[in-house]
Amino acid sequence: MRFLGANKIFDGRQYLPEGSVLVVDSQNKLKEIVPAAFEIQDKLEFFDGIITPGFVNAHCHLELSHLKGKISKHTGIPGFGKQVIMQRMTGGFTKEHIHEKAFEADAEMWKKGIVAVGDISNADDSFKTKQNSKIKYHTFVEILGLNPANENMMFELGLPFLNLLQSLGLNGSLAPHAPYSTSLELIKRIAKYDRENNLPLSIHNQETEEETKFFLGKQNDFKGLYEFLKADISWFKAPRVSSLEYYLKAFQDQKIVLVHNTFSTKEDIEMAANKNCFFCFCPNANLYIESKLPDYTLFKEHVNTLCLGTDSLASNDDLDLIAEANVILKNSNTFSVEVILQMMTFNNASAINLENEFGSLIPGKNAGLNLVEIENGQLNFINKII
Ligand SMILES: [Zn+2]
Repeated sequence: MRFLGANKIFDGRQYLPEGSVLVVDSQNKLKEIVPAAFEIQDKLEFFDGIITPGFVNAHCHLELSHLKGKISKHTGIPGFGKQVIMQRMTGGFTKEHIHEKAFEADAEMWKKGIVAVGDISNADDSFKTKQNSKIKYHTFVEILGLNPANENMMFELGLPFLNLLQSLGLNGSLAPHAPYSTSLELIKRIAKYDRENNLPLSIHNQETEEETKFFLGKQNDFKGLYEFLKADISWFKAPRVSSLEYYLKAFQDQKIVLVHNTFSTKEDIEMAANKNCFFCFCPNANLYIESKLPDYTLFKEHVNTLCLGTDSLASNDDLDLIAEANVILKNSNTFSVEVILQMMTFNNASAINLENEFGSLIPGKNAGLNLVEIENGQLNFINKII
């Protein structure tokens, strides 16, 4: 049995009363939380800093890890999408190389205190890594297809990947990629599937202003991407509302993670909050691709549904949740460190349906324990305790 104390202990939502002690058994499972007591003082291991539950990364694409450093920065989303597709088609990466890079990225996340991840997969390239990982993954099997005529075909192409994932004993659900790449009909079909199976869903939302322009019927840069993909979109009639307003009607009473939200307006955010959506930020990827961060002040009333993710190594130099937290802390004073820690733990675990195992101090579970400190308004990761 170990007795762990620190200057502060964060439980996933708030700090515990001063002097609280975590009692951890020999299998690293939390046994109980007790107030400081004289009789355990000589067994107490005291840490200088803040103890937190293991971090949860709400948004990643492990299968793109081999693209680290291969994609030019600041091109905007249409240009980014084109580069990723080109690299995947003509980059000449072997399966072994893709597996090796996914394996390295997974090990790196573990070292940086991440114990659970919400991860996007377009194929099965990362499944082997996930099967052998110490990290718990919830995989969002991503489906796309903008032409409503292909709804059935695209859904049927995606579903076998989810079945394969589940046959390997891994958690997963279906997810539409983004509103500019997935028809409303297909989003509705995916949402229905996840709702009926009580699974969370994620979608890239308003990551670029071009998405807004596309839905409002204005000139936009997606035209070049569709031409490159030889996708005929002459049938598309802009709904003349924001993308989020357009597709939000596909969801009813289910867990939705909206990823990025860089160009979401106050009205968009209110609409999504009324549907209990989670809002996931990936600030370093936003700077990498669009050189623009969300207006965090618009989210200050929604701290219980804010999440944090790293996105992929195609649009980030590291898969380090602390680095993401520090971008927000540096660029905005909207959130306290306590709220930021909640975004890295309990909220994220809840968004990906893992709140009974991860993201807080749960008796009977090993949700990981990290030691961090605050220095000049920034978070420092000291080490993993368990
Ligand atoms: Zn993403």
